[in-house]
Amino acid sequence: MTRRAEEVRTLDPGVARMYTCGPTVYRYAHIGNLRSYLMADWIRRALMHRGYEVMHVKNITDVGHMRQEMLEEGGDRVILAALEEGKTPQEIAQFYAQAFYDDEAKLNILPAHVYPWATEHVAEMVALVEQLMDKGYAYLVGGNIYFDVGKFEAYGALSGNQQAGLMEGVRSEADPLKRDPRDFTLWKLAEPGREMKWDSPWGEGFPGWHIECSAMSTKYMGQQLDIHTGGVDNIFPHHEDEIAQSEAAFGVPYVRYWVHGQHLLADGVKMAKSSGNVFILDDLVERGFDPLAFRYLCLTVRYRNRMNFTFSTLRAAQRALTGLQGRMAVWSQAPTLAEMPSEAEEWREKFWEKVESDLDLPSALATVWNMAQSPLPDAAKAGLLAEFDELLGLGLNKAPASHEVPEQVGTHVEQRSGLRTSGSYGEADALREHIASHGYVVEDQAVGAMVRPKTPLERMAGQFATVSSPKEVASFLEEPPTMDFSMVSVVSGYMEDVQRITLSALKWSEGHDAELIVVDNGSTDGTSEWLEELRASDSRVNVVHADHVLGEAAAKNIGLMQCRGRTVVFLDPSTEVTGDILTPIDRWLDDEQVSMVGPWGVCTDDMHHFHDEVTSAEADAMQAYCQGFRRSLINEVGLMRECFRFYRNLDLDFSFQMKNLGHRIFAVDDLPIVRHEHRVWAALDEGQRNELSFKNFKRFFKRWGDRGDLLVASSQRHEHS
Ligand code: AMP
Ligand code: ZN
Repeated sequence: MTRRAEEVRTLDPGVARMYTCGPTVYRYAHIGNLRSYLMADWIRRALMHRGYEVMHVKNITDVGHMRQEMLEEGGDRVILAALEEGKTPQEIAQFYAQAFYDDEAKLNILPAHVYPWATEHVAEMVALVEQLMDKGYAYLVGGNIYFDVGKFEAYGALSGNQQAGLMEGVRSEADPLKRDPRDFTLWKLAEPGREMKWDSPWGEGFPGWHIECSAMSTKYMGQQLDIHTGGVDNIFPHHEDEIAQSEAAFGVPYVRYWVHGQHLLADGVKMAKSSGNVFILDDLVERGFDPLAFRYLCLTVRYRNRMNFTFSTLRAAQRALTGLQGRMAVWSQAPTLAEMPSEAEEWREKFWEKVESDLDLPSALATVWNMAQSPLPDAAKAGLLAEFDELLGLGLNKAPASHEVPEQVGTHVEQRSGLRTSGSYGEADALREHIASHGYVVEDQAVGAMVRPKTPLERMAGQFATVSSPKEVASFLEEPPTMDFSMVSVVSGYMEDVQRITLSALKWSEGHDAELIVVDNGSTDGTSEWLEELRASDSRVNVVHADHVLGEAAAKNIGLMQCRGRTVVFLDPSTEVTGDILTPIDRWLDDEQVSMVGPWGVCTDDMHHFHDEVTSAEADAMQAYCQGFRRSLINEVGLMRECFRFYRNLDLDFSFQMKNLGHRIFAVDDLPIVRHEHRVWAALDEGQRNELSFKNFKRFFKRWGDRGDLLVASSQRHEHS
């Protein structure tokens, strides 16, 4: 509220009442959401260290608002699918709430003392709305009740925002029943056919979202809270409206300290379904990470700063965490000290000072590492780290799992130690490699050789290298071509399709001087392993594995950068090559007039409607299913624009990049290639298709919308006139 760090003074000394806006449980919490719950957990642990008794409430927004959000967002696949399967909204909420509790446990987030469910507190919400009506802060119109923002003078104090109506007007039609566009809904009349509805003095209806937190926090902690947390997107309107409701009803300050966590970004953009960059905790586990590596990663960025999530930083976090665990295991074996050395107290003060200085966890973590490298005796280090971990929550206090080391491995470890003492380091290293091949890691510590099983990540590593972004990939574009053709396919799971396109492309390019580059865009279904086998069995194959799903343009650019052929042919995994396509493509490209060819061209007259399937004619764009062009063109027109994360309409943009420099695109009908169902498209529902396509279309249109001069229709008009 004051926008500066303040010393925490709670209402009742020694007691801290803390409320955290919790998850909406009709989908998995993503790691961005989890970051904001980690922040609350660290605040709570810091207070506990100061001896506070913390009372923590975290609400569960369950099915009450599902319908409303579905309507606004154009439907949610998961809910729709579950409803189709005959699950009730309650079952869906139960499932995702359990998944949320599990995620919290995996991240060592201390469970809240109460997780109130919204639908179980509708009576409290109704009572609060009645109170607001009685006091004249709310009005009834058309069966709905709105909060009268004009009556509440302090409105906007938290966010500095008075513009409720404007925001709402952007999302949907402004509600014509409101007296003032800033007013917000407290209670809404159930529309016909609505399932989730409750009785109230104003007829059957359902509560607005904001009233849930005011009503439930009051029920469990009273009218005044010490600390209220959430993500920055909660500040307005959610928290602004909570303040208005609670303070209007009770006449006392609602919250003493607001703390909002900044967003987590992935690939530099906010994590959101429509950007295709949402990760849930299980996505990390699936890739071999310990969930606590994510907790560690969040320690490295101050809560009030945005954090850009990448798998390479997560890998670094995992290594650091494994390192701390290993050190702790060693230190814990040191003989106990009669008394702690005085330097220990200095480290302790330093650590907690950082923690209490606006939750400066990156500095606190740096202190941990400095302490680890200091000359302090091991037992003192163990004692300090155990204390610090009560805040950090990295599970370092757990007695290290006593690993059952197979007898043979144990023998090897002993043999290796013997070799080292006798100075046979070469042989010792070879034995270490051998032990590694059994899945164990030997680390030489002051106390002797320590052996532990490989972490899941270490087990996966070494199978094949991965990249996190095009920046990590070498570009051959400046070098002269070393072969005739580079076929490029970007794939993302759907192994059968990947097998169909790669095997057909390889079969029908036999006899040509060609390579096949497969960009494996974050597959997790075994496709990556299959591609590695393919690479091993066929020297024409080059595979680049991305460690997560990159945006479409970024993935395609990796393919382009890796090309060594004079001619590039993009092949979509929904296609299948049925004959020699390379000979005709090269023949077409021999014509100087022709810069890009493919079988499936599109044309437009107005830049809005691209009609499909121009064949045997000049086209305005070539669809991504199959595009052939000279590699040298890329150095002229540039790579694809990486703001295109979804595939649709990226092909239009890339085509216009070419047309802009006078290049011409031709649809030809003599390429033996066919199309099958596009699996990515088929997996999306109508709402997602529209949203993703439209976003990309806007990007395309913004750049090329006024370039009607580039259209085929335009040049034909010239010829006519
Ligand atoms: P929701 O389930 O959408 O209500 O969000 C749960 C919590 O996560 C809220 O406190 C949000 O402010 C927070 N949140 C949403 N998106 C992000 C993000 N990308 N990074 C960090 N926190 C987020
Ligand atoms: Zn809330």
